[in-house]
Amino acid sequence: MTIRIGVIGAGTIGQEHIRRLSTKLSGASITAVADPNDARAQAIAQGLPGCVVADAHDLIGLDCVDAVVIASWAETHAEYVLACIDSRKPVFCEKPLATTQDDCTRILDAEVNAGRRLVQVGFMRRYDPDFVELRGVVEAGDLGAPLLMYCAHRMGSVPDGYTTRQVINDAIVHEIDTARWLFGDEIESVQVLPSRQNPNSSGDLLDPLVTILKNNSGVLIVVEASANGRYGYDITGEVVAQSGRVSLASRASVEIHRFVRSERAMPADWRIRFEQAYDVELQHWLYELNQGQPLSGPSTWDGLAAAAVTDALHSAVETATAVNVSLPAKPALYA
Ligand code: NAP
Repeated sequence: MTIRIGVIGAGTIGQEHIRRLSTKLSGASITAVADPNDARAQAIAQGLPGCVVADAHDLIGLDCVDAVVIASWAETHAEYVLACIDSRKPVFCEKPLATTQDDCTRILDAEVNAGRRLVQVGFMRRYDPDFVELRGVVEAGDLGAPLLMYCAHRMGSVPDGYTTRQVINDAIVHEIDTARWLFGDEIESVQVLPSRQNPNSSGDLLDPLVTILKNNSGVLIVVEASANGRYGYDITGEVVAQSGRVSLASRASVEIHRFVRSERAMPADWRIRFEQAYDVELQHWLYELNQGQPLSGPSTWDGLAAAAVTDALHSAVETATAVNVSLPAKPALYA
């Protein structure tokens, strides 16, 4: 069976997902595209047999669309996810699920009322082989109880006008989900420590921004988010445990030896670093849809729990104090 997919938002990651869904993965065809830039949408649709261009809300209702991929700006996610749930169409929504906990709560209530999981959130690190191996080592327990985690999310560069709010909602949200998934525990409080400002960044952007998340077991997760380091896309993670530590190895595709030096190439951006993770997460989603299985990937609950932490981080930036995270009871649908 082939799942007929409508894609909302044909920007950077939208086009990446259209490429992998139409040329790389099995079990999908792109049948509709929506984007405010009509010329861009038309150009993409022309390259895909049978693909139509539609307004985003119309796209969700089309008979030729079985499932929806949302890759538009974060602020638009909630309204489209709610419309998909209303139409009882499965939806893969890029992270963040929504930009506030309140919006995530509306999505959660709608999905619980629908009585089945319809939403998967694009927390693709859960499908990255390196992160999966890191988690396997922590879970195996040989290192004893986890105590601390150090993460760096160094983006290389960001566009002019990028805000601290985006650093939290679009970047640190990955470390929040990683920590929840890795330790199987919720974050209970957060702190924010702005550092000396990187001269490459201007305006109100706090760069670098160090955040400390504390989970219910007391593990501290220290996250450095750097926006404009300008040397490459550098993602690190290290768990310090009772009797050892485990860290992600540097990602390098090749080593170059010249002029009495060895150099290791590093990813230029997230598309390169996480190509395999995006492939696996979407193939897994398609497989479950094709098999008629309940969705098992990152859920609305995961999106909401992450938004509760990003909301707390926004408050911590404003108040310069530690802020507690507040979560409702977890509905049985997400057990
Ligand atoms: P982008 O390049 O700016 O693309 C966003 C696209 O959405 C643009 O084509 C934009 O059109 C379109 N759009 C804006 N408002 C819309 C609306 N109301 N309805 C439909 N489309 C709309 O951004 P991006 O980097 O692809 O990011 C998109 C989303 O993916 C964000 O939520 C981001 O956090 C997420 N993302 C996730 C990962 C990951 O690692 N999982 C990586 C990158 C991005 P115009 O340009 O014409 O305004």
